[in-house]
Amino acid sequence: VRGHEGRRVMVLGLGRSGLAAARALEAGGAQALCWDDGPQAQEAAQAEGLTLHDPNRADAFEGVDALIVSPGIPHLYPAPHPAIMAAMRAGVPIDNDIGLFFRSVATPDWERFDTLPRVIAITGSNGKSTTSALVHHILQSAGRRAQLAGNIGRGVLDIDPPGEGGVVVLELSSYQIELARALTPDVAVFTNLTPDHLDRHGGHGGYFAAKRRLFAEGGPDRAVIGTDEPEGLFLANQLAEGLADDRLIAVATGRRLRGPGWSIYAHKGHLVEWRKGRQAASIDLREIAGLPGTHNHQNACHAYGALRAIGMSPRVIEAGLRDFAGLPHRSQMVAQIDGVRYVNDSKATNADSAAKALQAFGKIRWIAGGLGKEGGIAALAPVTGGVAKAYLIGHSAREFGLQLGSVPYEICGTMEAAVAAAHRDAEPGETVLLAPAAASFDQFADFEARGTAFVELVRRLERGEG
Ligand code: ADP
Repeated sequence: VRGHEGRRVMVLGLGRSGLAAARALEAGGAQALCWDDGPQAQEAAQAEGLTLHDPNRADAFEGVDALIVSPGIPHLYPAPHPAIMAAMRAGVPIDNDIGLFFRSVATPDWERFDTLPRVIAITGSNGKSTTSALVHHILQSAGRRAQLAGNIGRGVLDIDPPGEGGVVVLELSSYQIELARALTPDVAVFTNLTPDHLDRHGGHGGYFAAKRRLFAEGGPDRAVIGTDEPEGLFLANQLAEGLADDRLIAVATGRRLRGPGWSIYAHKGHLVEWRKGRQAASIDLREIAGLPGTHNHQNACHAYGALRAIGMSPRVIEAGLRDFAGLPHRSQMVAQIDGVRYVNDSKATNADSAAKALQAFGKIRWIAGGLGKEGGIAALAPVTGGVAKAYLIGHSAREFGLQLGSVPYEICGTMEAAVAAAHRDAEPGETVLLAPAAASFDQFADFEARGTAFVELVRRLERGEG
């Protein structure tokens, strides 16, 4: 990174992004003072030749110029990490790898337009990863040099500086946005907003406020905003006043958006671009295998908007959309066995994302449960009409059962038992869907491990070993 030569910068949290930040700081001529509460992470950093620095010592922040915080470390709610409290008391500015990245790309060496990377930043409650991967895929299909980083793939300071014509696609969580001291993407996308991670932001308002920072004055040149919820609509409304018409692209699903400005909507399986009072393009999304369901049509609209915002043509975007294979663990078609589809949507970790999956696949054998979030699955009642039966696993199994109303269910406990039971009951034409509406940590390392367990069990069934 640039702009920190000769400075002493403390790095708190030595996961992937923390280590990348430490290396980048050292490479840029700064001294990285590293810390992680875990002894293993400490050893790993030392093995790399990085300097450990204990923030718990009384004078730990003396002579420290900045503190770089990893996204997994709470900086405010439910309670700040003690090192963050100490840094704030000592007047040390807090930042993160995202802030370092944007400061770095804004320094004079990068200012010649032809070497400046285009940065597309994507945030929202759901669909961030799919939208980011889709944007990245379309850019690559079109022969553009593109890198995917942030909350998905690699830490942003792990990627090679993108040269001429390159594009960095950056998925940003609310934590990453909240801490970053510089946020200047060319294009910023806001997909949608539903309650999630409320514990880390002190409630829904705090969560929205964090995401909104990405669109603050002096932020993106262009904004693509999902307007299906009041928060997005409000944000679009505010931005439209400050920005010239073609700086805001409003996205809506299920209803037509027409206005003098620039908008994209998903309607009856089509993506429609509307610009300056007339239809500018239309794409049939229904046959794209990698994007099933209206939630993925929303993701397609956002990706399309982001790429239109950097000047890509509708036809080129369409070609990339068509051969998108989808991401593992998100509406991932695993197998078809005796006329039954098996779909892995392990990434559906909250009720809202599970709701989308439940509406995307006809008659469903639904595997759900894990570490439930606030409210459990009570909000899903209106969309369980297609569920033939639920197969409940994990910590929340009984609570979810009680919330299911008249939907038949079985407490299976484990993924293994749930897959076996759903397989036993499923009729041709039905879908066995893993969409847990809960976090995975009670039984698995993460949502990927949970999805992989499901996929392996399905593969065994496929081989007749069930
Ligand atoms: P994120 O990175 O924001 O968590 P993903 O693209 O990984 O989003 O998708 C997470 C889950 O949310 C998926 O399993 C899918 O069921 C659901 N989902 C995907 N896109 C959307 C969307 N646009 N709206 C609501 N739910 C979505």
